[in-house]
Amino acid sequence: MTCKDCDKSIGYQQHKESMDSLGVELCARHTKLIKKVILDNNTPLEAIQLFYALKEVGANPMLEWWDGKKSVDIAISRVKLNIEIDKDYNMITHEQAINDLEEAMHSFKNGFTTIRIPHLAVKYYLEDTVQNILGIIAGLKANIKAI
Ligand SMILES: [Zn+2]
Repeated sequence: MTCKDCDKSIGYQQHKESMDSLGVELCARHTKLIKKVILDNNTPLEAIQLFYALKEVGANPMLEWWDGKKSVDIAISRVKLNIEIDKDYNMITHEQAINDLEEAMHSFKNGFTTIRIPHLAVKYYLEDTVQNILGIIAGLKANIKAI
């Protein structure tokens, strides 16, 4: 068993602790670091899981990336892709809904693409979610070349 962040080998107890609390295999240091990120940014657990899944396939994701105005759950900077995890569609307020759209408009204007992924997609279809994001990255790369 190894830490998904630093490849340090970890014991059963640490494996269990990180899996139980974060759903990702991490060493004690990285479990602590990620828990601090969650506390500071209110990061959904699914963003953490998706971040490490994307890291594993070499997508070079960044967690809680500051775009100048707000923190983005996950960013893939070389194709200017921002990924936000939607926690609960049923809980969304009308103000939140229009704010999200406005934010998406501003990031498009700055050359960024923002996609919102429902947390349930990450929870139940992590592999498919990763594959789709890789497809989006490939599409964005092709578009960058075309310009
Ligand atoms: Zn580690």
